[in-house]
Amino acid sequence: MQYHLDTIPVWEAMEQESGCPLCYLYRKIEAEEVERSLGGSVMEPDTRIKVNETGICAKHHQQLFMLQNRLGHALLTDSHTKELLKKLDKWEKQADSIGGRGLFGKSSNGQELVEALQKASDGCVVCEAIDSHMKRYLFTFIHLWKTDKAFRAKWESSKGVCMPHGAALLTMAQRELSGDNLKQFTKSILHSIRESLSADEKDLEWFTLKFDYRNQAKPWGNSRNALERTINRLRGLCIQSKEDSSNS
Ligand SMILES: [Zn+2]
Ligand SMILES: [Zn+2]
Repeated sequence: MQYHLDTIPVWEAMEQESGCPLCYLYRKIEAEEVERSLGGSVMEPDTRIKVNETGICAKHHQQLFMLQNRLGHALLTDSHTKELLKKLDKWEKQADSIGGRGLFGKSSNGQELVEALQKASDGCVVCEAIDSHMKRYLFTFIHLWKTDKAFRAKWESSKGVCMPHGAALLTMAQRELSGDNLKQFTKSILHSIRESLSADEKDLEWFTLKFDYRNQAKPWGNSRNALERTINRLRGLCIQSKEDSSNS
């Protein structure tokens, strides 16, 4: 049932035809999850406990800050910080055992405290929620490719995916496909990335050559947004180009 529900957004993303369909889905879910973390759901005890325990990463705090709900954002951050202070209190006491005998008779160099502090610094409930949606979409993408001829044709005529989502698809394919299907899928992803990146690179080179005064009068062709396009292909959608934003 969930699979059939998930085919709708995956098809919709393929029909965008603007860039990587998985980046499109990522952005859409990210906006929903950020919005949701300041919405009603955060008042539910289960969600609240999870936010307090895990916290939110720097990127998603930035996006929350942009929503201009200072009170909601402050309440959420305050209750997470209160939780964290209890842990810090405990860790500070545990640091007494460094260099001597630990709680269970083992000597400690404080490594477990470093790990605890690190974990508390980089957890994110929004990232975790997005990840679980994305895993379902990767699964759905692969099963549509395997079972739906129209989807496979759409994929083959598309501009393909970015490199990080290519790697994510191949990781999921290792689990979901085997034999000839796995070979065909792997080749198809790598071929599509190479073809698109090669077109991006040609445009990017022409973009650099346009800075030469001798090329000033020559047409830009497809190269105006080649820098944004290539970076988004290499690392996943991170720069919105002027052309893209005027289209949307
Ligand atoms: Zn992508
Ligand atoms: Zn995050």
